[in-house]
Amino acid sequence: MLCKCSSKPVEVTVGAQTAHNHVCGCSKCWKPEGALFAQIAVVSRDHVSVTANADKLAIVDESAAIQRHACRECGTHMYGRIENTGHPFHGLDFIHTELSAEKGWSAPEFAAFVSSIIESGAAPESMGDVRNTLKELGLEPYDCLSPVLMDAIATHVASHVVSNG
Ligand SMILES: [Zn+2]
Ligand SMILES: [Zn+2]
Repeated sequence: MLCKCSSKPVEVTVGAQTAHNHVCGCSKCWKPEGALFAQIAVVSRDHVSVTANADKLAIVDESAAIQRHACRECGTHMYGRIENTGHPFHGLDFIHTELSAEKGWSAPEFAAFVSSIIESGAAPESMGDVRNTLKELGLEPYDCLSPVLMDAIATHVASHVVSNG
């Protein structure tokens, strides 16, 4: 995957297939100019490495749960990493496979945080159309994550409640 810089782009190499690819309406995920939604997938952090121009990367917000490593020049987010070992998604990196010239990445399966596009400027009265379009694309719209991922988070929380006794 390459950032948008025309010279010396940051290159991130991903050595495994992605999972849980989805479009995301939150205001934190990077999206191409003019897009309402980001497209984002997860992959084990062991399979993500920066292979060129790593010196151009900086963390967008050190205090965020997901540390998004972005190119300082073009602003493209190259990968998001969770350093908190207690986080339900620790061990997974968040990547934008649209930045890859390779084909065959897992396709988006659902739309997350749909209502949040209003925070980025979408008209509230357009939301019916937006949700209909997502459904036509086969991307079930949710206003949090998908039920599978929400269940994974709740399972993680429940296991900690039990083990902390
Ligand atoms: Zn760049
Ligand atoms: Zn997001």
